Amino acid sequence: MTKSFVQSLNPVFANRPQSIFPTMSALARKHDAINLGQGFPDEDGPEEILRLAARAIVEGPNQYAPVEGVPALREAVAADNKRFYDLDIDPQTETLIVSGATEGLAAAFLGFLAPGDKVVVLAPFYECYAPQIEATGAKLSLVNLEPPNWTLNEAALESAIDEKTKLIVINTPHNPLGKVMSLEELEIIAAAAKRHNLTVICDEVYEHLIFDGRAHTPLMTLPGMFERSIRIGSAGKTFSLTGFRIGYVTGPEKLITGVMKAHQHLAYTSPAPLQEAVAAGLAMGDDYYAEFVRDMQLKRDCLADGLASAGFHVLPCAGTYFLTVDINSVGASDDAEFCREITREAGVAAVPLSAFYHPSQKQAPRNYARFCFCKKTEVLNEASARLKAYCAGKTAT
Ligand code: PMP
Ligand code: GLN
Repeated sequence: MTKSFVQSLNPVFANRPQSIFPTMSALARKHDAINLGQGFPDEDGPEEILRLAARAIVEGPNQYAPVEGVPALREAVAADNKRFYDLDIDPQTETLIVSGATEGLAAAFLGFLAPGDKVVVLAPFYECYAPQIEATGAKLSLVNLEPPNWTLNEAALESAIDEKTKLIVINTPHNPLGKVMSLEELEIIAAAAKRHNLTVICDEVYEHLIFDGRAHTPLMTLPGMFERSIRIGSAGKTFSLTGFRIGYVTGPEKLITGVMKAHQHLAYTSPAPLQEAVAAGLAMGDDYYAEFVRDMQLKRDCLADGLASAGFHVLPCAGTYFLTVDINSVGASDDAEFCREITREAGVAAVPLSAFYHPSQKQAPRNYARFCFCKKTEVLNEASARLKAYCAGKTAT
């Protein structure tokens, strides 16, 4: 008797639902809804970069880039670290170009972790951290940031660390919360990392999207932290080119080598012509960065006002693309159901905050939804109007 062949799957991936981002985008398309779920801008970044990318594709390079990245981009990343954070980075040994921050994170986890290791992750957290960490055989030690201020509790961090802990992951500015870590919180992380001899993976993809005149502070600029931090940036966020899939990792040679050892067997290299274009992008003047943040801050304010006038309690947002609302304020209580419902009924898609918790965290809050504001103002206004009409209809019935 021939048995039908069944391929068993890796439970880390097989036992999870599809990522929330494509899931909500597909639902938005199905219902012709405005997609404020998945975070991507609806206008491409600087034409200058697009033209350089087109030229680089026509004229080359179009073969494998060096495994560490093209020299021009590695030099630009080092110069960018000097320009914004006064960090002296050796482009040859302390930078690595990756295929988006997503691959940079995966390469860091694969490069550093072995089965049985533990990683401290602050919840809620960007979705890919958990499956990427668990696929290495390591485990997450979760520390909850408590609403409504989402402040890091030092004692909770300390009790999450034991002798198996190897890494802490931080994300500032934070997706989905829009929170920017205070200096005091960075100091708590730095002290714990030094006390327990840990490396910190710093997801800083929104480094240039901090509002209200605040500036970004990379953890690695704190005393004694360069040697134990890697910082991951993304051209997707900094230049509104999420489809380019170019990210950059900065850190001390020993750590960069560790990430590179995994990267060379994962993505191997990143698109050569796009790296050339991003290198030129990083050299753009201060006016680019100032206008980028000003424009996004206006969008934040536009959507925050619109959501408030629809009846939502809108939480503060200091950076990123995202606003969080408390759905209790409009009489809803199940975030996943609420996000599906507004996509279907109001024609606006959002993402439930509970998707940013570990599946084991049954007590995760269910009363928050995340709306993305990196869209044209008219799109944000239309989304707000739709939600206002929808919420008014709900209270009338
Ligand atoms: N980290 C965070 C916090 C993000 O929000 C994202 C994407 N939105 C990434 C990492 C991944 O970035 P990339 O598109 O460069 O892979
Ligand atoms: N990071 C984006 C978000 O948070 C989406 C990225 C993705 O779809 N993987 O919405």
